[in-house]
Amino acid sequence: MKVDPSPIDEILEAIWVAREENRDTIADITRVCGHQYHGKEVNVEETLPQMQTLNLVLLNGGAVELQSEGEKRAMGIIRRHRLAERLFTDVLQVSEKGMEMTACYFEHILDSEVMDSVCAFLGHPPLCPHGKPIPAGECCGAYERNWVKPLVVCLADLELGKEGEIVFITPSFHKRFDRLTALGVIAGNRVKVHQKKPSFVVRMGETEVAIDKTIAQEIFVKAT
Ligand SMILES: [Zn+2]
Ligand SMILES: [Zn+2]
Repeated sequence: MKVDPSPIDEILEAIWVAREENRDTIADITRVCGHQYHGKEVNVEETLPQMQTLNLVLLNGGAVELQSEGEKRAMGIIRRHRLAERLFTDVLQVSEKGMEMTACYFEHILDSEVMDSVCAFLGHPPLCPHGKPIPAGECCGAYERNWVKPLVVCLADLELGKEGEIVFITPSFHKRFDRLTALGVIAGNRVKVHQKKPSFVVRMGETEVAIDKTIAQEIFVKAT
């Protein structure tokens, strides 16, 4: 029988999430799955025996355990999902609803290599925006994960006197974007936080530019 991989991935993800809450029954997993999966029907009870045949899970009475192959696959899905969440909240400022939908989508399409570069880009974050642990990837050296500063921060959060390279800008208004471009506030350029109060002033080369604080929150820099 051919098995559609998508419900399997959803269930693996649900098993992982349930386990974080010390739950492992089929009912628990069904509940998590229902919560997580938008619109699509996932028949947990029907799919679990197939997953056991594939050596992904072990059905032990009413409890469901991940087998090593299932563990590995679930970890990858959770990692992609939570890293995508971090990417959307920290960097792209996607709304909560948009974030969940897009993170669900991302977890199925991105390969682990791409995810490792996203992870590095974000500074190997240990937690998702909901405070749940992000499984470490090969890119995350054990010692690197102790709350290293995120690699990309908004300009407003960059410390006084610190310098960074502009990675991207998410302006709320296009008019602002034109003005920023005219001032040289564009991706690839370096900026230094020259003054934070009373007004926010950055230095770019020899030029000093006063920037509205709200705009400084829309400019993302890689601290260097
Ligand atoms: Zn999360
Ligand atoms: Zn990493």
